[in-house]
Amino acid sequence: LASNEWKKDKTIVNVDGIEIGGRNIVVAAGPCAIEDEDIAIEIAKAVKKAGAKMFRGGAYKPRTSPYTFQGLGENGLKILRKVYEVVGLPIVTEVMDTRDVEKVASFAHMLQIGARNSQNFPLLREVGKAKKPVLLKRGMSMTTEEWLLAAEYILLESNGDVVLCERGIRTFEKNTRFTLDLAGLAYVKTVTHLPLAVDPSHPAGRRDLVEPLALAAIAAGADMLIVEVHIAPEKALSDSEQQLTISMFEELMKKLKMVAEALGRSI
Ligand code: PEP
Ligand code: MN
Repeated sequence: LASNEWKKDKTIVNVDGIEIGGRNIVVAAGPCAIEDEDIAIEIAKAVKKAGAKMFRGGAYKPRTSPYTFQGLGENGLKILRKVYEVVGLPIVTEVMDTRDVEKVASFAHMLQIGARNSQNFPLLREVGKAKKPVLLKRGMSMTTEEWLLAAEYILLESNGDVVLCERGIRTFEKNTRFTLDLAGLAYVKTVTHLPLAVDPSHPAGRRDLVEPLALAAIAAGADMLIVEVHIAPEKALSDSEQQLTISMFEELMKKLKMVAEALGRSI
């Protein structure tokens, strides 16, 4: 169902009026995790002003260690709703558990499946049933074939609104957190009608590497970027090393606009 032999025309995923997969490149930005209402609203206002069209932020966080901040859960979802009411950016947020799908879907405009859950097949089926657009991250040890098959689980539930998101894979390289597989992205683009997103933050692992990865991603054909931004990254409760400051994000948006224009697209 994800194949462009099955469906010839490119899919455009509509998230609360924002079209992903068309001429416009959609940037979603926001903190790694929702930590506090005032902080979330301040970040959302700033990224909107800089040109972001969606707000990201995790309420349920898939942390490697159970001893670190796990996210605010339902209270985080309530903050996300407030952000939408006050700032107006549609919300993309992660759902980790089949039992939470309905609840998260009632607060979010797009459901994110994280890298660590990208082959959680019951969860994929459940988000397929939720009838909300889905951002499907590629697992860190997934082949492009396995990634596309994960998308099939969602599409099979008659939910055609899937955006595939490359976020870096595990390789032998240790100086970056993950290896952003732009070759994989370019390949997948030749075989699917689904829109493609790139998360430049998690492969970078450090904020100074986010910009080159983001610029390369749109040059390679990404339809969407999802970027971690915080008003005080050094104080963030998760991924503090890789979250961009507001001024770094503003600078990035300027450069992204130039690359997009050169490609006949817009941001
Ligand atoms: C995230 O985007 O918040 C996240 C946890 O990313 P990933 O699942 O790609 O690690
Ligand atoms: Mn993160």
